[in-house]
Amino acid sequence: MIFRTRFAPSPTGPLHLGHAYSAMLAQDLAQRAGGECLLRVEDIDQSRSRPEWEAQIYDDLEWLGLTWPQPVMRQSDRLDSYRATLAHLWSRGLLYPCSCKRRDIAAATSAPQEGGAPLIGPDGMVYPGTCRPGHPPSGPRPDAALRLDMARATALLAAQPMRPPLAFREEGSDPSGETGLIDIPFDWLLSNVGDVVLARRGMAGSYHLSVVLDDAAQGITHVVRGEDLFGATAIHVVLQRLLHLPTPIYHHHRLIRDEHGKRLAKRDNARAIATYRAEGRTPEELRSIVGL
Ligand code: GLU
Repeated sequence: MIFRTRFAPSPTGPLHLGHAYSAMLAQDLAQRAGGECLLRVEDIDQSRSRPEWEAQIYDDLEWLGLTWPQPVMRQSDRLDSYRATLAHLWSRGLLYPCSCKRRDIAAATSAPQEGGAPLIGPDGMVYPGTCRPGHPPSGPRPDAALRLDMARATALLAAQPMRPPLAFREEGSDPSGETGLIDIPFDWLLSNVGDVVLARRGMAGSYHLSVVLDDAAQGITHVVRGEDLFGATAIHVVLQRLLHLPTPIYHHHRLIRDEHGKRLAKRDNARAIATYRAEGRTPEELRSIVGL
């Protein structure tokens, strides 16, 4: 099996030191394994993606000395595939439309008698199920946000004959530093993840749906990304199982933080790769700043 990983930035702002670390680590791991590191532009959110940020991604990565095979996959070219998968999940009764706004969910989940704090899972506030129908809806799929019915999804997975345990392999997670197996308990999915959004209204798919389909379409064997996405991996494994797609090996790396311990954000221009370039720093200096 060839080692194939990817770096998958969203063109919604300038890449910063954290992206540089992630991209260089992915490329280093691929080189060490004699494999390859692909680039994927995650521009599914058309309201926030900008061509100028995409152009800067290529410039910054080239400046860092990275190379990647062509053509580059762009999510905006893959909307048909996301739509087809949503139609398939809809026909299996695994989705339902949801019209709740963020504030409705916050109000419904923060019951005053329980201290008022909504339960936050890997996909944000755990959805209280306001729009979940008693039975799966059928008929034509509406143009609404679509949620995965996690109870139906887990019941379906539990009923799969000869099913392997719901889990993924994480590099370095074993006490000896080897690749360990991370179990995903069904009851944790129900209580702490819940009915995640797989399509926003007017959008062809959500991050979770597109990342799973794209990793499979690109034949990704190893996913290298920040540990902030560790919890989301459980959602991705559920989708892979429902869609009969392979589960790659994961490597969630540490995050690069500022001097106050806060993780870097795209609006934090001081640590943008472009700023270091403009200051005349070298890629080697960036490597040592991030500890590579
Ligand atoms: N597009 C995501 C980001 O920029 C990365 C997603 C992933 O690596 O799975 O944070």
